[in-house]
Amino acid sequence: MEHEADTPSDDFCDAWQGDHLEIPKTDQPAPSDDGDDDTQQFFIKFKVEFIYPPDITLEDDEDYVLVEFGLESSTSIHQFWAPCKRSDSENLSWDEISTMLTRINVPLHKQPSMLHRISTCANHIANADHNRSKKVLPMMVSISILVDYSCYKQEDASTYVLRNNADVAKLMPVPASNESVEGLKKEILEDQGNVSVKQCMICLENLQAGSEIMGMPCSHLYHQICILHWLKISNFCPICRFQLSA
Ligand SMILES: [Zn+2]
Ligand SMILES: [Zn+2]
Repeated sequence: MEHEADTPSDDFCDAWQGDHLEIPKTDQPAPSDDGDDDTQQFFIKFKVEFIYPPDITLEDDEDYVLVEFGLESSTSIHQFWAPCKRSDSENLSWDEISTMLTRINVPLHKQPSMLHRISTCANHIANADHNRSKKVLPMMVSISILVDYSCYKQEDASTYVLRNNADVAKLMPVPASNESVEGLKKEILEDQGNVSVKQCMICLENLQAGSEIMGMPCSHLYHQICILHWLKISNFCPICRFQLSA
């Protein structure tokens, strides 16, 4: 899980079943009283490392006090519970994972590939035969982020809005509108050589000839399934932040 020294700009995210995690009994959600024995809970432990690049020129900007401590990196641990939804496509929703990442200060534009990675791992855990009888599905997530101070500045009011979710007002990203998503062109990638972006920046896999792809108006390409998932979370292009209408 070491950060590769020669590629310091790469953020890192990995997730796996955490069989040796110590599950805190105290804050474990109470089992439901309706006799539904199928209820499973994910217990997710995040180990998050923020790496602060050296030689930051501090602008006249007192909001970014982290630099003043002179830290090179800081690591913190965060734990979350979430019910397992038992669906073929999504046992732990991107929405829930994004809320967790936002609570631990992962900037929204660094989240797309992490959401994909964590959601895929959650599905593997939920669907593994040897986990069927478990009440608690433990998952470990390790994240390393190279802090780019400008990204926190850019995540302004157009990125997050205060939304009333059930009875609490929460700062949430803005999903793309249905009309703007319907206006995007779906196509089958015919020739890999013709596209400037060779990799889907959400699942981090190569865009192969024959893939079902989708282009944003900024001309950035993704797998259809990946970008449609992301646009339900946020309306901006993960590569260049072009914003679809919300
Ligand atoms: Zn993809
Ligand atoms: Zn773009």
